[in-house]
Amino acid sequence: MAAHHGKEPGFSTHAIHTGQDIDQVYGAVVPPLHFSTTYAPDGIGNLRNGYDYGRAGNPTRTALQQQLAAVEGGAHAFSFSSGLAAEDAVIRGLMRPGQRIVMGNDAYGGSYRLISRIHGDWGIANTPLDLNDHERVAAELEAEDATLLWVETPSNPLMTVVDIAALAEIAHANGALLLVDNTFATPYLQQPLALGADVVVHSTTKYIGGHSDVVGGAVVLSDDDLAQKVAFQQFAVGAVSGPLDAYLTTRGLKTLGVRMDRHATNAAAVAEFLAGHSAVERVLYPGLPDHPGHELAKKQMRNFGGMVSMQLKGGEPAARKVAEATQWFILAESLGGVESLMNYPHEMTHASVRGTELAVPENLLRLSVGIEDVEDLIEDLDQALAGL
Ligand SMILES: *Cc1c(COP(=O)(O)O)cnc(C)c1O
Repeated sequence: MAAHHGKEPGFSTHAIHTGQDIDQVYGAVVPPLHFSTTYAPDGIGNLRNGYDYGRAGNPTRTALQQQLAAVEGGAHAFSFSSGLAAEDAVIRGLMRPGQRIVMGNDAYGGSYRLISRIHGDWGIANTPLDLNDHERVAAELEAEDATLLWVETPSNPLMTVVDIAALAEIAHANGALLLVDNTFATPYLQQPLALGADVVVHSTTKYIGGHSDVVGGAVVLSDDDLAQKVAFQQFAVGAVSGPLDAYLTTRGLKTLGVRMDRHATNAAAVAEFLAGHSAVERVLYPGLPDHPGHELAKKQMRNFGGMVSMQLKGGEPAARKVAEATQWFILAESLGGVESLMNYPHEMTHASVRGTELAVPENLLRLSVGIEDVEDLIEDLDQALAGL
């Protein structure tokens, strides 16, 4: 990044400029996309700028990693082919068989599936629990084998908010590391490393990419030793982002700040509309004053984000009907793109945790509120709910 004078740049200045130096040959303002898988040294052993082979390093991926580290306030970032590949690299890099992960009992279903069904078979145990029960969290972490506390806030899809700073203290007092999955909040709204977390993971597929056109993941951290272990996983296992994926993710990240502002304004209006609707039993949005995590979210987040969940009075049949009756809210998995999405977690994103402690209510719908004109979104929900 070009040298800056005095004051540390703000979030969006970093997002737009860090890792994005102009091209030295042509002066291209957008750095070129490097597809080459191999790099010619200047004679044997004389690498040019450290690059030799595409799995080990690629300038387009480096650019994204520098941008990610800057916006998350970390010293190191690693970009992966998916969010789950990033999580896998952290677990295998920082844990060993015989150790245990203590995690929220409403974690993202795919994370739980990875931890329980892949790492479980390789000797890493897990204990899902209520992360707001700090006494229980501390009691579990006291045990020698519990070395990682896994936190997601707000959680997916129940929008539970937990206290990152308090959980960092509890983890550290018991010799454990704190990991935060910051996918829902994004670094624009929440900075876990500054609140004491040791590791941040992302599915960049969601808000960071932001346009529903690239799958990716990231690990961001500040400790050099931990970073080396994750770097070795990235290099030796090779679940890296390809150059085009890295480029698209970089392009998305540049506009994260303005998108999140609009996502949040739209989501607040949608949540308020739903809270006043007679067919809706409960709206789960941390921006609503009656949400149990409202004050905490105000303290640790810039605003309340773009995700809104709701439970319908008509139970499962009502949820299914509304999910299939909207026009602008597209019925689809995933979240965080510019377009609004509607998800029925019980049968879609969270089908894999049915019957486990992480199961979600059958009358629950999860909305990823996009950045369309909010009047259109509210009218769409109004007509869908009117059909009940
Ligand atoms: C989607 C998601 C993941 C998994 O990321 P992929 O890119 O789909 O592999 C992890 N955590 C959360 C909170 C997610 O929403």
